[in-house]
Amino acid sequence: MTEKLDQDTRSIDHSRLAVLYRVSQILGTSLDQDVVFNQVMDGVIELTKAERGFLALIDPDTKEITIRAARNFEGEPLTQEESESGSTSVNHSLIRITLEQGQGLISTNTQKEARTVNQESAVIQNPRSSMCTPLHWSGMVIGAIYVDNGIRRRIFKPPELELLSAFATQAAAVIANALLYAQVNQNLSSRIADLETLAQIDQQLNTNLDFNHVVETTYHWALQGTGADDGWLALCEPSEPGSNEPKLKIVAGRDKGQILNKSDPMAVRFLEKRSALDDNAGAEQPKEAKAYNFHATEDNPARLVIPILIAGRFIGMLSLERSTDFPESASQFLNRLVTHTGIAIENARLYQAVQIANETKSKFVSLVVHELRIPMTSIKGYNDLVRQGVAGPVTEMQQSFLNIIRNNVDRMAALVSDLSDISRIEGGRLKLEPVLTKLKSHVDEVVRGLEHEIKEKQQTLEIDIPDNLPPIFADPSRVVQILYNLVSNAWKYTPDAGKIIIRAFILDDMVQIEVEDSGIGINAEEQKKLFTQFFRSENPAVSEQPGWGLGLNVTRNLVELMNGRIGVQSTPGSGSKFWFKLPIHN
Ligand code: ADP
Repeated sequence: MTEKLDQDTRSIDHSRLAVLYRVSQILGTSLDQDVVFNQVMDGVIELTKAERGFLALIDPDTKEITIRAARNFEGEPLTQEESESGSTSVNHSLIRITLEQGQGLISTNTQKEARTVNQESAVIQNPRSSMCTPLHWSGMVIGAIYVDNGIRRRIFKPPELELLSAFATQAAAVIANALLYAQVNQNLSSRIADLETLAQIDQQLNTNLDFNHVVETTYHWALQGTGADDGWLALCEPSEPGSNEPKLKIVAGRDKGQILNKSDPMAVRFLEKRSALDDNAGAEQPKEAKAYNFHATEDNPARLVIPILIAGRFIGMLSLERSTDFPESASQFLNRLVTHTGIAIENARLYQAVQIANETKSKFVSLVVHELRIPMTSIKGYNDLVRQGVAGPVTEMQQSFLNIIRNNVDRMAALVSDLSDISRIEGGRLKLEPVLTKLKSHVDEVVRGLEHEIKEKQQTLEIDIPDNLPPIFADPSRVVQILYNLVSNAWKYTPDAGKIIIRAFILDDMVQIEVEDSGIGINAEEQKKLFTQFFRSENPAVSEQPGWGLGLNVTRNLVELMNGRIGVQSTPGSGSKFWFKLPIHN
């Protein structure tokens, strides 16, 4: 009889071990939390043949216990209600004690169990036999597996707990992996979301170098990305003459325009560090800015402060506030934001400085232009009067000297006019009056003006403009100026007896005008510099000719201001073809 019992127990043990082996096999095939929890519960039910099984996990920070999966005997998931309802409620006390003691427990008669006496659910009409085993992983208890039966059905015995505990050891590792994977995944998703935001910010910052736009965008994203209610962004201004200390001025957010230096303790601290840096003692200064996270107190809101550094140099700071503490993720976002926008802020500031310098230059040029024009007009006028003999008879030699004066004044006038145009174009003050106008008449006007010079060099001029060419939409006097620049260059840079062709035709809804010559041409390297200010070729044939290298720059600006395009094709020694196109519609 005893032998028979022993045999039975052995065969039960044997078959249970086989089940343990089988159910353990399915674990670890997935890293998905829900799949893993389900696999564990399937294994638990198959192994214990319990009526119900539960997987409880403990939050490592809050120590809160939550049921993450539940199963009935048929292997069907249980709803929250089914798990918690009345007499069949999960035995939470047993789970808690298991977690505290870190050991498996069996509760055979819940009604009498001291541990469950205080629990409402233990006031039992339908007492249950329960078994609970902890999930150990890496020296910690991460949760527990709990199973139960109505006692009339079956009462759990110690060998079954051993088997469940053996399974739990393997399940714990798989669950821990899945939890870790979910955590990494979540961190990764929030990092990707951060990177996407930063890419969006970069895009917004890079499309515009306007200083106000850059600081406002930075401030806006700082508020949005950290969940702050209020704050400010301050930047260092150059120090006053005689003082070494830069001024920190708020450029976006609350109290915009205010100077901060002494009024904010963090500002004082950063400014002190900055002067240490100026004395070359700043080796310990971090190259990347880190946010300081201050908790909210009864009197003060929570505050997040970060210095803005460029290569370790302090250029400003961002301060953000809100009524509740900032999470660590807000500090991290701010660190990344400031690293990105610091450079954009510095670029915008440099750009602003360049713009101011440019404006000053433009103002100076327009002043000089104005001051030169008055004496030039009078030199030219009196020279003409003397030449015409109004002031008495003029000898041949005097006439030739007066002609030289006249030519040089004309050259100066052309230079002054180009400078004046450039300063007005750069300052956005050049007013154009486009109308629908016939190109042919402008070409004729330019050719009339240069006829004499072209004849002198015995050059041939060919004009090829169809009569039915539609009018162009452009400023007539500027069209003349463009044509004059290109045709006079063709004349200047083409040797005697060369050829110049002016042609026009319709191309892609625009009129294309070409000025082709058989002149000296321009090499590929120099073609890249054409149309820039003061460019003149190194070709000796160019230096023989008067010029400043401004005409083509003005020409390009005028064409573009009239919504046109300009370009060149040239072969050194054979000639050049300058083309430009202008619209035919308003
Ligand atoms: P400038 O003629 O006063 O030097 P431009 O701006 O009109 O100034 O022209 C700039 C330079 O481009 C010239 O100095 C010359 O080197 C080159 N260039 C312009 N037009 C021609 C041309 N038709 N053939 C050869 N080189 C030219």
